[in-house]
Amino acid sequence: MELRYIAGENNNRKVVKVKDVSIGDGDFAIIAGPCSVENLEMLMEISCRIKENGAVILRGGAFKPRTSPYAFQGLKEEGLEYLRQASAETGLPVVSEIMDPRDMELIYSYVDMLQIGSRNMQNFSLLKEVGRADKPVLLKRGMAATIEDFLMAAEYIASEGNDDIVLCERGIRTFENYTRNTLDITAVPILKSLCRLPVIVDPSHGTGRRDLILPMSLASMAAGADGVMIEVHPCPENALSDGEQSLDMQEFKKIAERLKSTKECFCDIRRK
Ligand code: PEP
Ligand code: MN
Repeated sequence: MELRYIAGENNNRKVVKVKDVSIGDGDFAIIAGPCSVENLEMLMEISCRIKENGAVILRGGAFKPRTSPYAFQGLKEEGLEYLRQASAETGLPVVSEIMDPRDMELIYSYVDMLQIGSRNMQNFSLLKEVGRADKPVLLKRGMAATIEDFLMAAEYIASEGNDDIVLCERGIRTFENYTRNTLDITAVPILKSLCRLPVIVDPSHGTGRRDLILPMSLASMAAGADGVMIEVHPCPENALSDGEQSLDMQEFKKIAERLKSTKECFCDIRRK
């Protein structure tokens, strides 16, 4: 495998800055927020609560890649506007998904980090587009992507000039159907040994099950991940997307506290 831009050893690990938040500096970053931005009130509530509990970046989908064309597709620009307002209120930087290179100008003007979703991991024109942008990128693993496919997708972005990339393991499709996807925790140390980019884990899409978020977040930390991205909702049963895997604010608080108290054992926080 030829990696010209993202290869690297332990001594030149990349630290990705999202505004004043560092990912890959030895600390454990918690990114949290709703699957979809649904309205301003919910986003404000979520963003204040996650901040109180130690999250460092707010996530929220405004352009949603849904399996059915008849499912809620996201609030689009209105959702991006709400993300900006929530960010202004709490100071948390925001990450949101871009699905189409034609939306770059619009999305770029609202977000602090551009997310490439699993379904677009090999959309090469989109990879090149974000590669030319001067904003950090959160690249999610394709649901049928090998580790090599995943790294090559990151290499596409970096080869256009942008190596501010965070890799996100979010589970792959297997024959197993007790979980929505099979979360490949082994990918964390493997990716970190093959490239110098930070690696985070999304246990929400990785499992599809709220009861597995805590054990899989702890497993991610123990495996050396630089953070997690977790879906939350004030009232998961009423969520417009991914309610089954979303935590309510109380559950999120517990998990965030547990991660905080465990971090001393696994993270190189002395480097901070
Ligand atoms: C998401 O994080 O909003 C999402 C759609 O996840 P994925 O692309 O991993 O399915
Ligand atoms: Mn989701």
